[in-house]
Amino acid sequence: MNILIATSEAVPFAKTGGLADVCGALPVELARLGARPAVILPAYRKVHYCGLPIERLGIDFIVPIGSKTVVGHLLQSSLPGCDVPVYLVQQDQYFDRDQLYGADGKDYIDNCERFVFFCRAVLEVIRLLDLEVDVIHANDWQTGLVGAYLKIEYRNLPRYERIGSLFTIHNMAYQGRFWHWDMLLTGLDWKYFNWHEMEFHGKLNLLKAGLVYADSISTVSPRYAEQIQSSPLGCGLEGVLQHRHDVLSGILNGMDANEWDPQSDPHLAANYDSRSVAQGKAACKAALQEELGLPDEPRVPLVGFIGRLAEQKGIDLVADVIQRWVQTSDVQWVILGTGQPKYHRLFETLARRFPQQVAARLEFSNPLAHRIEAGADIFLMPSRYEPCGLNQMYSLCYGTVPVVRATGGLADTISEANGFSFQEYNSTALSETLHQACNTYRRPEAWSRLIATGMSQDWSWAHSARQYVELYQTTIARTG
Ligand code: ADP
Repeated sequence: MNILIATSEAVPFAKTGGLADVCGALPVELARLGARPAVILPAYRKVHYCGLPIERLGIDFIVPIGSKTVVGHLLQSSLPGCDVPVYLVQQDQYFDRDQLYGADGKDYIDNCERFVFFCRAVLEVIRLLDLEVDVIHANDWQTGLVGAYLKIEYRNLPRYERIGSLFTIHNMAYQGRFWHWDMLLTGLDWKYFNWHEMEFHGKLNLLKAGLVYADSISTVSPRYAEQIQSSPLGCGLEGVLQHRHDVLSGILNGMDANEWDPQSDPHLAANYDSRSVAQGKAACKAALQEELGLPDEPRVPLVGFIGRLAEQKGIDLVADVIQRWVQTSDVQWVILGTGQPKYHRLFETLARRFPQQVAARLEFSNPLAHRIEAGADIFLMPSRYEPCGLNQMYSLCYGTVPVVRATGGLADTISEANGFSFQEYNSTALSETLHQACNTYRRPEAWSRLIATGMSQDWSWAHSARQYVELYQTTIARTG
């Protein structure tokens, strides 16, 4: 089975979020299962610093963009440690820039044009390289037009007749909405600019195009697949998703089990597995408390949060609960993250005023993220919405008990057997659930059971990749 994964990011070439992790890890696992995946993404400036050899293929191509034609070139590399090919679409005017999508908090003004070009390039590359493709797997709005071009312009060409298309949504909140005149850039007839297809409230919506033209649609957890079929998580496209619900499914992302394994993690003060978790975590907790300048208190619960300081992640609830608890409860807190300036100021102030209870590291630090996952007792993820979420999986694997809001992937991974969850999005619900967790923490037997269950679960890619293989088969059947 030949799968071409079209994406705007993939580890280690270019990354701004979880999409890159999926598109870097899934193909490796697919290859292990006997499929023949390949990845295609833009050759941003950053890709040249990924540490892997990249060769020029000496193949140039031309695609129409509005009334002009634009030349592109092809580069090739492969994913680390395997021979999965990675095709990089070079067009320096579009992609030789510092960032992927924008700078100084603003999107690049030509983002529509850049990704129209990329989508056209994906289709052209199949012909140029004479690739056999059974399914094109497109991801997020940046590749939203791939399915449209396949159905509208390429369908009758011999090589493309039987290609199926899968479109995966990683976050409904990012839709690639552009003013209507950008329809001209696509080269597609205005007849497709209607509310059943590419138009959304007067604008061109590339995510919507992705949903409308795909043979199959997936998202990154079964619960999120349900939630996006209604408001507010459908972000206005719930009607489209209801209409296509028969081809919509959810597959949880896996975690990178090489990077996140307490038995071999080089960032930790002590390595441990499920048998040595009690001693291992105690050593990691003491080392973390020392690193953060918190008192060495083995019996005080240490509560961690890692992530973007954004309302999606429920950071407003975390801030509220810390302020409510800090003067009355015997709990330590550590926050690792960057994001909205008002939360930087708030956590800095709390850490200064209450240095015995609150540590704030307002930066991006992967090693510290590992040490928090190992050294904390409880991990907070009170997200407003969460398509999948990875930190709760790392926590389970590291014997750290998650306290989460039951939404999206958090609802699919956290149950009474391995953690605590609440429904209502408010700080009282979070506070009550955290109380429950702290009470259980003081009952070592019950706590050890939670930890043991979490550590025994398998969240690696192996399981999810098998589900993707099935979905590709279903997609091929739908096409044929
Ligand atoms: P997102 O919505 O941001 O993609 P995920 O939970 O799916 O959320 O993935 C975010 C990833 O980035 C996780 O691996 C998390 O540990 C990591 N991360 C986020 N913020 C930081 C930070 N400040 N330092 C280190 N790692 C971080």
